[in-house]
Amino acid sequence: SERVRTALIGPAGENRVRFACVVQDRSHFAGRTGMGAVMGAKNLKGIAALAPVGAGGRMEVADPTGVAAIQKWMGQNLNLVKGLHDLGTAGGILSLNGSGGLPVRNFRAGSWDRAEEYSGERMRDTILVKRDTCAACAVRCKRVVELETPYRVDRRYGGPEYESLSALGNLCGVSDLYALAKANELTAAYGLDSISTGAVIAFAMEAAERGLLGPDRAGGLDLSWGNAETMLALVEAIAFRRGLGDLLAEGVARAARELGPEAEAFALHVKGQEIPMHEPRVKHALGVGYAVSPTGADHMHNMHDTAYATRSRSWEHAQTWGSFGLQEIHGFAEEKMRLFYYHVNFRHAQDSMVMCHFLPYSPEQQAALVRAVTGWEDFDHWELLRVGERANTLSRLINLRQGFTAADDRLPARFFEELPASRTGKALDPEGFARAVRYYYELMGWDPETGVPTPATLERLGLAWAAERR
Ligand code: SF4
Repeated sequence: SERVRTALIGPAGENRVRFACVVQDRSHFAGRTGMGAVMGAKNLKGIAALAPVGAGGRMEVADPTGVAAIQKWMGQNLNLVKGLHDLGTAGGILSLNGSGGLPVRNFRAGSWDRAEEYSGERMRDTILVKRDTCAACAVRCKRVVELETPYRVDRRYGGPEYESLSALGNLCGVSDLYALAKANELTAAYGLDSISTGAVIAFAMEAAERGLLGPDRAGGLDLSWGNAETMLALVEAIAFRRGLGDLLAEGVARAARELGPEAEAFALHVKGQEIPMHEPRVKHALGVGYAVSPTGADHMHNMHDTAYATRSRSWEHAQTWGSFGLQEIHGFAEEKMRLFYYHVNFRHAQDSMVMCHFLPYSPEQQAALVRAVTGWEDFDHWELLRVGERANTLSRLINLRQGFTAADDRLPARFFEELPASRTGKALDPEGFARAVRYYYELMGWDPETGVPTPATLERLGLAWAAERR
């Protein structure tokens, strides 16, 4: 029935793969941090909701006209996101390759000569059969692909996003669009985080290249870079924890511990979460964001420096928080890190609203949406920012309680080395990076050395109660 909605785990969650995800309606994902494994550990296979019939199925809001006006604005301004509609997030493949920010072979190069073979444009012109959407969104950035041969790909699982193409593709040296479409379908069907899946396969390929993962352990698989059949076989093996898949299902941090200290040098993760498909040597503040994110390396509640290097819509919206000039993509200037503070906390606020990050609404419009839904008349964008700060700080307290410290706000050593084949890549400066992390703590009202929220900050955010439960 169209009235039923589901949030399910697949075999990956049942087998407690550390990066199993939760799949909504087959092609939408709570992709990161292994929530599928948590559900699997609790023997919770899924949740299904049945919408009531008629008016009872509609959500009550305080000001329906206000909500409709904001929705209508989006419909009238689709030109702002026409690239996203046309190519989906996969539109990023060629632009990132051009700037040298496409992670190739486990972040060892920033571009390669195969990007066009599986780009958003190539997907649109070959296997795309439909553009899908999330509930009530006019942008329709979701892909639906279908294929009969050489692999059968079921359209009910949607189609690959940029992150999936990049992680299972360039990160592993694979450029076969059909194999990538199949791998995307399998990660969706099995309930795997496609970013971490690609990252752990790339890790295995580098381990094999360095002689740390021999043929016995590989179980007969050829772990050469670019082997699409191996990539597909490993997706399956990971979901069902078969052979080498059982080790890789533990994620790169644990797998590296098993393979020995030499492997830890190229186990690319932060707080156990594999790095997403954005290069911190091209966007330096993004690297700080990976390090300080409460959920480990994350590209969504993070700032992409390139968005503020031109007079973009993001840059215009930033003027809401103060007067900001254009920013360099490299370095950690104080003004840029102040912008980072506003940007990241606003992302946390959007996550609390369950608001898509791709929609080009201003902070004021988003606060107006909260007012229209809730009827809270004096709720403005500053209050919304405080919601984000509160969520971010509460996450910090939870991490501290679980044993994380400032020492975990780090980046893998690879990002402090030069990036080959990159027009705009530049190694991060370790001292500047450490200063930027400390400055971020200060802006957050956390102790600049320990990263622990100060009592005054907790009081200001109404979180004193949470500190008592640490
Ligand atoms: S809500 Fe966001 S992700 Fe979903 S279709 Fe719209 S723009 Fe795309």
